[in-house]
Amino acid sequence: MKHIGLFGGTFNPIHLGHIQVIQEVKKGFGLDKIFIIPSALPPHKEPDGLVDAGDRIEMIRLSFSTHPDFSVSDVELKRSGPSYTIDTVRHFKSILPEDTELVLILGLDAFLEIDTWKSYKDLFLLIPFIVMSRGTEGEKRRVFARKTVEDYLKSKISEGYKISASQSSYVHEIKQPVFVFDVTPIDISSTKIRKLIKTGRPIKSLVPEIVEAFIKSKGLYL
Ligand code: ATP
Repeated sequence: MKHIGLFGGTFNPIHLGHIQVIQEVKKGFGLDKIFIIPSALPPHKEPDGLVDAGDRIEMIRLSFSTHPDFSVSDVELKRSGPSYTIDTVRHFKSILPEDTELVLILGLDAFLEIDTWKSYKDLFLLIPFIVMSRGTEGEKRRVFARKTVEDYLKSKISEGYKISASQSSYVHEIKQPVFVFDVTPIDISSTKIRKLIKTGRPIKSLVPEIVEAFIKSKGLYL
C-alpha cells in the first residue's frame, strides 16, 4: 500500500518555504510520494500578478528535478475554469490503486479558508489532512497551531472532533482525521517574492537558484 500526499497551491512562484516544509512532511509521515499541483485560477486569490501556468509549472519542475519522490501534476491546468480541490481529490482517487492512502497537505493559512471552498464538507469525509504550522514564531507556535485548528474544526466543520490518543490529530466518528504538523518556521511567501522583484530587490535565498535564473531570463513579476 502506498501513502501519497497531495500539495496544491498557486506557486506564484514556488519558493524555498514550500520546498523545505513539504520535505519535512514527507519524512515526518513516511509518505512514498507527493504530487505538487499548481492551480489554474485560484478561486480565493486575486489573480493580479499571476504569471502563466506554463511558467509556474516549469519553476516547480526545475525545483524538484532531483527529487524523484515528488511529481508535478498538471491535472488542474488541464481542467477548464477555476481549480477546485474536491475535483482534484476525486481525480486522484479514481486513477490511483484502491489501497492507496491519500492525504491532503496544506499550510495553516490555507486551511483556515477551507469553509469558502467548493463542497468543503465532503472533502473532510473524503481525505485526511495534514495542516502545517505557518506564520508564528517561538515556543508557543505548536500550541497556537493546534488550538487554532481545533477551534476552527469545531466551529466551522463539526463539533464532533476530538484530539486523538496520540495527540497528533483531530479525529471524528465519520470524518477523516486532521493532523497538525509543526514544520520549521520559514518567513517566505510568494507575495513577498513578487514585491521584492517589483521593487528591484534581490530574491536570492528565497527561491532555488535555478528558479531565480528562470524568473530573470523571462522577466517575470516585473
Ligand atoms: P501567496 O503569498 O501568493 O499567497 P504562498 O507563499 O502562500 O503564496 P501558495 O502557493 O499559496 O504560496 O501556497 C501553497 C501552500 O503552501 C499553501 O497551503 C500554503 O499555506 C503553504 N505554504 C506556503 N509557504 C509556506 C511556508 N513558508 N510555511 C508553511 N506552509 C507554506
